[in-house]
Amino acid sequence: MTRYKTLRDFPVEEYLSPGSTMCAGCGAMLVLRAFHKVLGPNVVFVNAAGCLTLLQVYPYTPNKSSWMYTAFASAPAGAQGIRDALDILMEKGRVNSFEDLKVVVVTGDGAAYDIGLQSTSGAIERGLDFYYLVYDNEAYGNTGFQKSGATPYGSATATTPPTERNPTGYTGVKKDLFEIWRSHKPPYIATVAPSHMVDMLRKIETASQFKGPKLFIAFSSCPTGWGFDPSLSVRISRLAVECGIWPLKESVYGKVRHTYIPTVLKPVEEYLRHQNRFRHLFTPRKQETAIASIQEQVNNYWLEAAKNEGFRITVAKPVTIAPP
Ligand code: SF4
Repeated sequence: MTRYKTLRDFPVEEYLSPGSTMCAGCGAMLVLRAFHKVLGPNVVFVNAAGCLTLLQVYPYTPNKSSWMYTAFASAPAGAQGIRDALDILMEKGRVNSFEDLKVVVVTGDGAAYDIGLQSTSGAIERGLDFYYLVYDNEAYGNTGFQKSGATPYGSATATTPPTERNPTGYTGVKKDLFEIWRSHKPPYIATVAPSHMVDMLRKIETASQFKGPKLFIAFSSCPTGWGFDPSLSVRISRLAVECGIWPLKESVYGKVRHTYIPTVLKPVEEYLRHQNRFRHLFTPRKQETAIASIQEQVNNYWLEAAKNEGFRITVAKPVTIAPP
């Protein structure tokens, strides 16, 4: 049984004060707020360098909980130290179970997909009892939006700008972090998005039942880096899910289940068009081949998932390319 059936079940307690230093419309803040509401006040966040590091600039903090800042690669090691210290203090009777803290790593995609992947892998392998939350804005957001391992095909970043020789922007593929983690066989992994809040609350609640690594990859719409109006942040997130670009799923001990299945996928163009980072795909001329390639990747993903899980889905037609 879940406590979260509709948005009316969104917990009213607030553990993050308003008026932070984050950009207006930052999707990562919506995710962090929801996590804090479900996990409650007895939380210690262990933060790898990234955008959310700027939330806590001494002597100010919007959190009604604890926050420890680490270097890019070290957050899982920091989490291990805190967990071990709490366990030892509890064993000695110096901390009781009401004072115990949930240990939550909070990191951007730069640390999660690239710089901190090794220490995360080690923590999962050791079975560390922690939450690991990636706010994925698909680039190094707080240093000027350089490409990360999470950057998707076709995105312009500071280090992959569209040029005359390469008009598509980034031409590599986004790493599949969900599958990298799944190969470690942790108890729980999920993807979440701020537009699908009830799905997210339920997943955090489900994860709480498991001891061991509990991993979340959160779609984090980024008005500053992606180039859209902050008021559209939740709409962009919804389009990502409805176009099938951001599948909502979970894995319990390795068994994958999609938690939201858009029965008819919207064309990816509807998602891409709203963001300046993909503007070069539409102007000065439409890059039909690049857009068709993105659509094909999404379609293939969902057709495979439908076959594995036995659901029906209607994929969007790839863009028709006129013969030369
Ligand atoms: S750069 Fe993007 S992810 Fe970073 S705080 Fe601003 S909106 Fe959020």
